[in-house]
Amino acid sequence: MKAPEQAPEPAIGSAPGWPLVLYYHHVHPTLRHYCSVTPSDLRRGLELVLSAFEGGSQDPHCAASRVVGGGDRPSVLVTFDDGYADVLDHGLAVLDDLGVKAVMFLVTSWVGRRTPDTSQSCMTWADARSLAAQGHVIGAHTVTHPKLSALDGGCQTSQIEGSVAKVSSEVGGCVPFAYPYGVKGECSPGDERSAFGSVKAAARPWDDQHAEIRRTYLPTGAPERWPGLIANWRTQWER
Ligand SMILES: [Zn+2]
Repeated sequence: MKAPEQAPEPAIGSAPGWPLVLYYHHVHPTLRHYCSVTPSDLRRGLELVLSAFEGGSQDPHCAASRVVGGGDRPSVLVTFDDGYADVLDHGLAVLDDLGVKAVMFLVTSWVGRRTPDTSQSCMTWADARSLAAQGHVIGAHTVTHPKLSALDGGCQTSQIEGSVAKVSSEVGGCVPFAYPYGVKGECSPGDERSAFGSVKAAARPWDDQHAEIRRTYLPTGAPERWPGLIANWRTQWER
């Protein structure tokens, strides 16, 4: 029997004909957490993914259709949530090595945070501007990382639009948005803005306006499952 609190399985990728969107959180050599990978596992996973999906040359910009150039080839978009500093310290060299440009979704009130437990420290606005200058995209992930569905509509809107406006003023460019916990509330970001969900989002076509874009992941600590998942996602793409 499947327990209701069980983490959703990443067996389904994106909608057919649209890019695979992966999400990560921490990149850290020793942190043990379901959303943390070591630098070598980041490399190992991305190398496997890049053997089945193209990831080097796409322009990961705002509108989904522009993210991918229309779904005529199997591509992957790599995303990181929350803006942890360890992604810069341990992940950026791997991305650079593999030619991957990523989307980093920042929690705007966490930017520049320094914590005694350094794994919770976050990148600064200067870091974010530097990443953008290197071709990565800086997105928004609310102001304080609440579960949006627990807030009223006005608070949801201020969490979404407040974070988007802050990223826009600090970094500029087109600012995609990701829902914390992969949980969408009643409110969505503005018309042309891409809104990313989690593996819990339906694998809908991306031309479905205001839909959450489904993301999926490679399970941390289970690399033996990765080749099978990637092969399955590719088969789904070709369907
Ligand atoms: Zn998050």
